[in-house]
Amino acid sequence: MEFDLIERIRRRVATRADVALGIGDDAAVLRIPTGQELVTCVDTLNAGVHFPLDTAPEDIGWKALAVNLSDLAAMGATPAWCLLSLSLPHGDAAFVEAFLDGFLALAKQHEVALVGGDTTRGPLAISVTAMGFVPAGKALQRRGAQVGDEVWITGVPGEAAAGLQQWRDGGARDTVLRARLDRPTPRVSAGLALRDLATACIDVSDGLLADLGHVLNASEVGACLELGKLPGSSALSAAIPDAAKRATLQLSGGDDYELCFTAPPSQREAVDAALAQCDTAGRVIGTIEAGLELRVLDAMGEPWQGVVRGWNHFDQEQR
Ligand code: ADP
Ligand code: MG
Repeated sequence: MEFDLIERIRRRVATRADVALGIGDDAAVLRIPTGQELVTCVDTLNAGVHFPLDTAPEDIGWKALAVNLSDLAAMGATPAWCLLSLSLPHGDAAFVEAFLDGFLALAKQHEVALVGGDTTRGPLAISVTAMGFVPAGKALQRRGAQVGDEVWITGVPGEAAAGLQQWRDGGARDTVLRARLDRPTPRVSAGLALRDLATACIDVSDGLLADLGHVLNASEVGACLELGKLPGSSALSAAIPDAAKRATLQLSGGDDYELCFTAPPSQREAVDAALAQCDTAGRVIGTIEAGLELRVLDAMGEPWQGVVRGWNHFDQEQR
C-alpha cells in the first residue's frame, strides 16, 4: 500500500530549483543559498488531540503544514521545503488525495516543496518537518525583548478556541470560527517583514499568556497586558457574549497561530507599515516591564481577576 500512496504523493508535488533530489531516493538533497542559515522545525498532529475527529481531510492537510510554517514565520524565516510523515489506519487513497488538496494548496501559496517523508500504518497522525532559511544571524528569537518595548499580536486571538468550544458544545456553530481552527493562517510574510523590527517573536499555539510567558522567560523580563487593547471580532463576541469568558479564551485558548512579538515604541509606525504591507492586522496589547511577572489589567485598568493558564499537553484537566 505504501508504494501506491507514495506514488500518488510524488505525482502531485511541485519542485523548486534548489531541490537537487526530491521524493524517490533514500533522502532528499537540498541547496541552501550562500550566506543563509537553515531554520527547521517539526510538529505532529494526532487525531482527536490536535484536531477534532470530524475534521475534513483537506483541513487536516492544511493545518499540518500551517502549524509548521507558523513556527518558521516566528523565526522570520523564508519557508522552502518540507517532509511529511503519515501514519494512516488504512491505506486510504481517497483520504490521501483529499489531505493533499489542503496540504499542497498551502504549500503552493508559500512555494514550499514537499521533498520526502515516510508512510506507515498506525493511528492517524501527521508529522511535518518544515525547513526554510534566514540571512546568517538574523533569525528572530524568543529572547531579546527589552524593558519599554511594546507587545504586539497579529490577528484576533481566541477565535480558534471559540470554534473548538462551539464544536464541543454541539450547539450553534460559526463557520468563520471553525475555519480559524481548521485553517490557521501562518503569518509568514509578517515574520519576514518583522525580522529587522521586532526584538523578540513567538507564534501563539498554546494560548497568548503561555506563549508570551516563554518570551518573558527567555528575555528575562516581565510584561503588562491590557485586556482593553485585545483585538476582537463580531464572530467572537457573538459566540462568547460573556466578556470575562471571552477574555479567558483570548488569553489562554490554543490554536491561534498568530505572532506575538515585541518592538520598541520608536518602531511603532514602521511595524504598522510593515504589517499593512502584508495585509496582516496587528495591535499593541501591552508593554515589557522590569521584573519577571506577567500582569493583566482589565478594561478599567485594574488587575484582572480571571484565571490565567495556557494549554499544557501533560495537564489533561485543561481540555
Ligand atoms: P525508505 O525505505 O528508504 O525510507 P520509503 O519507501 O519510506 O523509503 O520512501 C521512498 C521515498 O518516498 C523516499 O524518497 C521518501 O522520502 C518518500 N516518501 C515516503 N513517504 C512519503 C510521504 N508521506 N510524503 C512524501 N514523500 C514520502
Ligand atoms: Mg521510509
